[in-house]
Amino acid sequence: MPDSVVLRGGRVLDATGERAADVLIEGPAIAAVGDGLRGDRELDASGCVVTPGLVDLHVHLREPGHEEAETIDTGARAAALGGFTAVVAMPNTEPPHDDPAVVASVLAAGARSLCDVHAAGCITKRRDGAELAPMGELHALGVRIFTDDGACVESAVLMRRALEYASSLPGAVIAEHAEDPALCAGGHMHEGEWSSRLGIAGRPAVAEAAVVARDCLLAELTGTRLHILHVSTAAAVDLIRDAKRRGLPVTAEAAPHHFTLTDAACAGFDPVFKVHPPLRSDADVAAIKAGLTDGTIDAIATDHAPHAVETKERPFEEAPPGMLGLETALALTLTELVEPGVVSLAEAVALLSWRPAHLAGLTDHGGPIEAGRCAHLCVIDPAIAWSPDPARLASRSNNMPYAGRTLTGRARHTIVAGEPVVIDGEPQR
Ligand SMILES: [Zn+2]
Repeated sequence: MPDSVVLRGGRVLDATGERAADVLIEGPAIAAVGDGLRGDRELDASGCVVTPGLVDLHVHLREPGHEEAETIDTGARAAALGGFTAVVAMPNTEPPHDDPAVVASVLAAGARSLCDVHAAGCITKRRDGAELAPMGELHALGVRIFTDDGACVESAVLMRRALEYASSLPGAVIAEHAEDPALCAGGHMHEGEWSSRLGIAGRPAVAEAAVVARDCLLAELTGTRLHILHVSTAAAVDLIRDAKRRGLPVTAEAAPHHFTLTDAACAGFDPVFKVHPPLRSDADVAAIKAGLTDGTIDAIATDHAPHAVETKERPFEEAPPGMLGLETALALTLTELVEPGVVSLAEAVALLSWRPAHLAGLTDHGGPIEAGRCAHLCVIDPAIAWSPDPARLASRSNNMPYAGRTLTGRARHTIVAGEPVVIDGEPQR
């Protein structure tokens, strides 16, 4: 029989509230929550908050096809170190997740990794926007989120068909990378004062809002669940708020870089700040924070996008878009949202854990922390100060834009299905 583990002396925080309690784990499950519990092994949680494991709806693990940038193993390791017990791998691999065999191999590799790896499926074959992918077959493998992420579904007709098809698949949600390709063509950063000053072609905010507006109307027409990936503009937040007010089945996520950085960061032409959708204006950052505060935005998702050093060292216009996120998301949320009072600690954990778990249909994740539940847990030290170092990341890439920032709070222990995969910030295998 496997050893039992006690998380000793922490404050347990889940959707039902917060209380001081130990947590006893036996095998893959929580055996008891209460005072003075004993086990074969003890992990110190004093001064810490014990939460359901974090869930990331949006990661790029690059396998298959770009293992020089990341693998499922290294990406899951970065996730576990960041406090995540589950991630949803985006389908823009090579080959992409438009084929049940590819999805099955991703899930098989994920099963050997340090966290629970789920796969999103493509909306269209090859993600080229021409013909629907075999969504039913992918759904049969457990896929619930369908997206051509990295690419926007340009055709309104195809988007309508995808939504109609998905309405027959239980739990399915269509997730959109909302950037109108024609409006963004040739653009490399947010279109605004900074792009004119730097002489870099822009990607206008209206490119996002136009697609969000169209897709909300199509969600209304079809009644199918729509999820807007990495919302970055004030206009899109307003549209989503309005859609929710009208009772439409629309959800949204925001990435940490869209509430912690602005387009001014591009002033030095450093490609580490190049991302799609791009870093926006101060007003957009304020709107994302307001959307997180009032529930318009349902989840914080990293859009973890590793790129090999050689490619990110190209000139700004030639470098691929994307930045790492898994090892900094929790700390950025605590430092930039919880400390200044934008959201409470409980709201932050909701955005990082049970709301995304619910959205993706991951019933094992997101709590509540009670006897009989699967032990996917994160022990957060909310007070520790640290500075992320691109040279010391578990990720195979180092395109991380927060070098030198002092952050407060970090995952101390991560437990996946009862196994302490990270203890005191160190991976256990
Ligand atoms: Zn995207």
